[in-house]
Amino acid sequence: MAARAPSKKGAARPAAAPRNTLRDKLARLGLKGDAELLLHLPLRYEDRTRLTPLAELKAGDTTQVEAEVATSEVTYRPRRALICHLIDGFGKLTLRFFNFYPNHVAMLAPGRRVRAYGEVRQGYHGLEMVHPTIRDAACAEPLPLALTPVYPTTAGLPQETLRRLVRRALDAAAETLADTLPEVLRQRLGLWDFATSLRTLHAPPPEAALETLESRQHPAWQRLKFDELLAQQLSLKAHRRARQARRAQPLAAAGTLARTLLGKLPFRLTEAQRQAVLEIRRDLELARPMHRLLQGDVGSGKTIVAALAALHAVEAGFQVAFMAPTEILAEQHYRKLAEWLKDQPVPLIWLVGAQGASARRDALAAGGSGAPAVVVGTHALFQEGVSLPRLALLIIDEQHRFGVTQRLALRGRSGGELEPHQLMMSATPIPRTLAMSYYADLDVSVLDQMPPGRRPVVTKLASQRRRPELIARVREVCATGQQVYWVCPLIEESEKIDLQNAVATRDGLAEALPELRIGLLHGRMKPDEKAAVMQALTAKALDVLVATTVVEVGVDVPNATLMVIEHAERFGLAQLHQLRGRVGRGGEASACVLLYDEPLGQVAKARLKVIFEHHDGFEIARQDLLIRGPGEFLGARQSGLPLLRFADLETDLALMEAARQVADEVLQDFPLAAEQHVARWLGARQEFFKA
Ligand code: ADP
Ligand code: MG
Repeated sequence: MAARAPSKKGAARPAAAPRNTLRDKLARLGLKGDAELLLHLPLRYEDRTRLTPLAELKAGDTTQVEAEVATSEVTYRPRRALICHLIDGFGKLTLRFFNFYPNHVAMLAPGRRVRAYGEVRQGYHGLEMVHPTIRDAACAEPLPLALTPVYPTTAGLPQETLRRLVRRALDAAAETLADTLPEVLRQRLGLWDFATSLRTLHAPPPEAALETLESRQHPAWQRLKFDELLAQQLSLKAHRRARQARRAQPLAAAGTLARTLLGKLPFRLTEAQRQAVLEIRRDLELARPMHRLLQGDVGSGKTIVAALAALHAVEAGFQVAFMAPTEILAEQHYRKLAEWLKDQPVPLIWLVGAQGASARRDALAAGGSGAPAVVVGTHALFQEGVSLPRLALLIIDEQHRFGVTQRLALRGRSGGELEPHQLMMSATPIPRTLAMSYYADLDVSVLDQMPPGRRPVVTKLASQRRRPELIARVREVCATGQQVYWVCPLIEESEKIDLQNAVATRDGLAEALPELRIGLLHGRMKPDEKAAVMQALTAKALDVLVATTVVEVGVDVPNATLMVIEHAERFGLAQLHQLRGRVGRGGEASACVLLYDEPLGQVAKARLKVIFEHHDGFEIARQDLLIRGPGEFLGARQSGLPLLRFADLETDLALMEAARQVADEVLQDFPLAAEQHVARWLGARQEFFKA
């Protein structure tokens, strides 16, 4: 019998304690049946297949011994501890327990034989193990033949239980172990078969190379990671194929509207923009729906590309929906389009959630008529009662900010015969590996070139102690007629505290800088109040805008040349990069000051260093990925995207390539296997995954 350290139990249980059966605990780990259990793979292993003689122990080893208890005592200085000495005739070892039950004391009585597994350390009086797992040698089973797996688990679910369940699943499930990778492909790729791989991972033979198992480079791991990546590719590609089988309105236009707009712009398109416009036009002319991601760093000029796409659809005689995640951003797009299209016969319709009843009625009527127009708004564009009968192009700005559920709702809306073309825009630069993995079902146009004449934003790090200097700097900047953003600390848990903070900051600045006009923008303001503030900023009726992170997305005020970010250490890298992108949009030199509070933690320090050293969004994203890992990077926790559990996009690029390459072949030649494979790995999550 194994002895366990005492667990800390609460004194009283709440009256209605949640059910906590074995099944509940397994469910918490996502383990619903054998299929899931088999894919619940060990984190690491313990080698309990052999016993190490005490004389051969070395500090640093994690190993198992069996020996006789020579002495055993409970001491109270410096703290309560059970200390026991083992001997085996040639060597000795001390065991130390700081938490123990009476049954430990009994099992470790002098003269008894015990088996102990743990890490050997150098103590004051020789080698010792602290809190080893111990068993009574007299009734211990024979030594296992395989390495002992250690699984990820949850409170109250002992390793032993998981091991037993997995063993049972391995024995029971010939069918669940069937290979879903066709033999010819498996051979060609030089991969292990599925059953052997799983058996090896759950119960590796003692001679298996522990490092390659634990670093997941072992062939068994390679196979499992490959399978996971393949499932992802299959699912995305299946989705892409299904889409290509659907129909969309082919949009034919000579390009008159676009040419007129280009002729009026105060700038020329960059080569990257021209290329993207071309790719989009080509897609729009086809009878199958475009799903294109327009990816470009903050300030790379995505809006004009989207506007040109919209004009193409309008000229072809159809409606366009241009959707942004916030009303501020939608409004900005609306203004920009209104300015660009001033003298052109292109109706613009404004449709958001908070809108006067009569304005809304007019907007709905104009949309419902089906007359060619660009409808600009938020997700309110897709609420009940909105009808755009000749919608042929849907443009989604900052697409990553829309949740998966919203994107699914959009898909649901386009249920008619013809599906609108979709252009998604994102400023979140996604490293190549991630893009390949998560956007395998999209076509991507990249704006990898900044409009000319941009001056890089000078980034400075300053401790809060230097706030007075900074305030003086704000005064100087505003004296030249330029404007300043002052971004307030982000406190995720509470909008209320956010607000208090922002108000306090505004008041503090107003007191220190009485001659300046200081505005406030925060998440709790009504949309028209926000719009009024933004309008004042654009019209230079404000010198300083104190804001919570609402300025994060897309705001374009070229006269703003200084951005101060308070508590920069609390922001994510992508956010900091986006925020910084709000300045440096005009011809003037701009600066971004990252104010931080001391002391700085390790991760915060690493993050600020990245943002200080880099200006390229892709490089920042790559660093972010290194610091945080891909899961958080994609915000998958909120979005419900299944993450890769085993494969690692940084190290498994080759496997990813292989999976990508065979995915088409599997879909084409082995459709049944493809289906089984996806079911095994993604199960019911498929629908989400495709969103
Ligand atoms: P983002 O890609 O971040 O959405 P925007 O579309 O808001 O960028 O463009 C940023 C600014 O750059 C806008 O003021 C826009 O008018 C301007 N701009 C876009 N393309 C060019 C270009 N080719 N040359 C100069 N300025 C440009
Ligand atoms: Mg934008």
